[in-house]
Amino acid sequence: MTFKSIYPYTQETIAEYAAHTPEEIEKKMQAGWKAFASLRHESLQRRCDWMLRVAELLKNNATEHATIISKEMGKTLKEAKAEVLKCATTAEYYAANIAPLLEPRPIESDGKKSYAAFEPKGIVLAIMPWNFPYWQVFRFAIPNLLAGNAAILKHASNVSGCGLAIEKLFLEAGFPEGAFQTVLVSSKDMEPLIADSRVQGVTLTGSTPAGMSVAALAGKYIKKTVLELGGSDPFIVLKDANLAEAAKTAVKARMQNAGQSCIAAKRWIVEKNIAEDFTQQVQSVITSLRQGDPFRADTDTGPMARPDLAEELSSQMERSIAQGAQLLAGGEREGCNFIPALLTGVKPGMPAFDEETFGPLAVIITANDEASAIRLANQTPFGLGAALWTKDIEKAARLASLIESGNVFINAMVRSDARLPFGGIKQSGYGRELSVEGVHEFMNIKTVYIQ
Ligand code: NAP
Repeated sequence: MTFKSIYPYTQETIAEYAAHTPEEIEKKMQAGWKAFASLRHESLQRRCDWMLRVAELLKNNATEHATIISKEMGKTLKEAKAEVLKCATTAEYYAANIAPLLEPRPIESDGKKSYAAFEPKGIVLAIMPWNFPYWQVFRFAIPNLLAGNAAILKHASNVSGCGLAIEKLFLEAGFPEGAFQTVLVSSKDMEPLIADSRVQGVTLTGSTPAGMSVAALAGKYIKKTVLELGGSDPFIVLKDANLAEAAKTAVKARMQNAGQSCIAAKRWIVEKNIAEDFTQQVQSVITSLRQGDPFRADTDTGPMARPDLAEELSSQMERSIAQGAQLLAGGEREGCNFIPALLTGVKPGMPAFDEETFGPLAVIITANDEASAIRLANQTPFGLGAALWTKDIEKAARLASLIESGNVFINAMVRSDARLPFGGIKQSGYGRELSVEGVHEFMNIKTVYIQ
């Protein structure tokens, strides 16, 4: 079996990689286990020094790394560079801030002394998607390697080059051989890796069906999982919002990365009194977006990552139009190139409301009032993020508690940030990445009690 990397903009094949054989995978497992044994006994200071070198290498070679990303999955070079630099900043952040998070936590009990210690457990297997092919990997790998776990990555089949470049980078930064490795393996052949006793946890970022399948296997072998799955985030604009800011941010939150983000603002829910104004403002921004060549500095949105994904988005759009939605802008498609589109009159029951739309399709849903906006926001099987726009901050805090999601951002777009826990509820998954919660997910939280 081989994995092909195809440049989405032109559909040209740029590389082919042979899948690793079971013998090669076993060698990687052995190397990973050996690296874990050395990493866990290494001083935290040394691990932090290596991580700072990772940050330096990312910054020094940002264009080279960004080029691999843009070539394999099509995002614009500026977006790819920003992604690489975010990985570097996060490596620096954790190197500076992780020490207290790994210190034992003293607990008062009836013993002389008791505490919870945080210990690494072994190899963490990461199954990652192509949409942020560096960031998704680094946001799990940085805290885990610093905490003393080793990492094995199964990357999405279309971004093998990214996976291999990241492996090389960790080695070059000084981490022991085997500390971070990429395996080229089909998603159908994951059971032996998940079953392997050296693998002590599995983290998956991807679609809900992939999460179901991996969690079922992990359950079979009693492996802890973190699942970061799909989303259909509401972006709620109430009548007292700063409309100009909300409209500008809505377009960015939906269209960045050609709309292929788990936390993209996939359903704009707008109070009816301001819906017309809001629609005019977003329509003018969307029609001004330039779609095309990811390597041109004036391109706003690149191609989608694969033609089947663009086709699926077209189908969701067309089926919604057949049910009464109106197309106000864009929607033309050729190969992976999908012109950013705007639909209004979207309602529950239409694919653009009920399903995750993973591409540059903005949809406007009108709500009669605040209460109906919240009801519509929650009318989804997903629960990843949500944005809420209002000038009344007290009201915002009250409404935030009614929204069924893992993150609520008020007067801002949902984003991931090393300081804030990130993750979802409902069909968007469970567990958290980043912040202190992300550091502890794959650690043995060991209680020690002294009488
Ligand atoms: P995907 O098709 O689910 O693939 C994600 C990863 O899972 C890939 O490495 C894929 O490998 C692997 N995979 C798929 N089915 C599998 C199975 N049955 N067993 C084991 N591994 C399996 O998702 P995608 O199209 O790459 O990414 C888009 C989805 O990811 C969207 O739903 C998006 O919302 C979600 N996402 C969520 C977050 C978050 O933080 N919550 C972040 C980004 C993306 P192959 O490529 O080899 O199939």
